[in-house]
Amino acid sequence: MKYKGRFGQFGGFYVPEVLIPVLEELEEGFYRYYKDKNFIAELNDLYKNYAGRPTPLYLAKRFSEHVGFKIYLKREDLLHGGAHKVNNTLGQGLLAKYMGKTKLIAETGAGQHGLATAMIGALFGMETKIFMGITDIRRQSVNVHKMKLCGAEVIGVEGGTGTLKDAINDALRYWTAHVDDTFYLFGTASGPHPYPTIVKYFQSCIGTEARAQCLEQIGHLPDKVLACVGGGSNAIGIFSGFIDDRDVELIGVEAGGEGVSTGHHAATLVAGKVGILHGAKSYLLQDEQGQVLDTESISAGLDYPAVGPEHCYLKDTGRAKYVAADDKDVLDAFELLTRKEGIIPALESSHALSYVMQQKGKWDSNTVVVVNLSGRGDKDVDIVEEHRENKI
Ligand SMILES: *Cc1c(COP(=O)(O)O)cnc(C)c1O
Repeated sequence: MKYKGRFGQFGGFYVPEVLIPVLEELEEGFYRYYKDKNFIAELNDLYKNYAGRPTPLYLAKRFSEHVGFKIYLKREDLLHGGAHKVNNTLGQGLLAKYMGKTKLIAETGAGQHGLATAMIGALFGMETKIFMGITDIRRQSVNVHKMKLCGAEVIGVEGGTGTLKDAINDALRYWTAHVDDTFYLFGTASGPHPYPTIVKYFQSCIGTEARAQCLEQIGHLPDKVLACVGGGSNAIGIFSGFIDDRDVELIGVEAGGEGVSTGHHAATLVAGKVGILHGAKSYLLQDEQGQVLDTESISAGLDYPAVGPEHCYLKDTGRAKYVAADDKDVLDAFELLTRKEGIIPALESSHALSYVMQQKGKWDSNTVVVVNLSGRGDKDVDIVEEHRENKI
């Protein structure tokens, strides 16, 4: 491998020997094409005309009035597919094409990344296999159906708890036996090197746009930039635009589930310990014996027991701060944005909004905040309804 893929002590590539040449080929391909003129031109055309970039930076006036300071939303919810995920699947899909691969595989938990990959498989005419735990297949039948409509094959993974981490294990296993023609399109800014670097690169359009839009629309940089953190791709995407601006505070919000103290949560950076999962060293939810724990939150898209290595590094160096939002508060934020702005946010994105809501009366009225609205909440209305009924 040419690079070590380290962020401080985090990251790396802790994988079986058989995977090293595969990752080397991927690293080589990425560094060959990521600045290639034709590659960039084709990608930018797709970002614009297929996905709908640039996304607006929107001043949420009534939501701002409610909390008492200014909140701008980076509208990734308006992208094709309904979330930021398409930035990454277009980028990696195009890279696969340039590298001469004809087949795509991907893992998925909630089905959002699986769907974003299936879309790109259809777009590029590539045979696509999506690995998905059987528990998740049961819970996310609409996304399974959409993936199949796009022509993808959904492979049910029975091992473990039948969730995301088992799907990743099986996808990696399949990849080792089919490397010649198959590209593994990984869904978030974690996993072995070079994935954290690749995913950040393709998601950095969020931060680049947001920074320029702040300067143009507000006339200066924001005081704070917030994003929800699952594996960390939308957060590293928007943070990347502001990391060098030392006065801009970066805040990542994880899934606190029923509360970090209850054990039922997915707050990896807030409550995890250093360990290794899926080929990378990161903070990790594990018990005393190092056994990886199951995560639990209202939003399946944040249920991942590890987190991208760069976030671990940003936490340890103090450049970014990480907090957790509990399910109950997330539902309140979901409702508030919908009521005040007529924008239905994804439950994932509602985590970031929830933390902002709680700063009412704490941050002064001149504070300018940018929240990355990573996705739209159409997929979540049934879950929200269920929880509301239980409350009555
Ligand atoms: C998948 C998803 C997330 C979580 O993934 P990250 O890699 O942490 O960004 C957040 N928001 C939405 C809308 C998602 O679909």
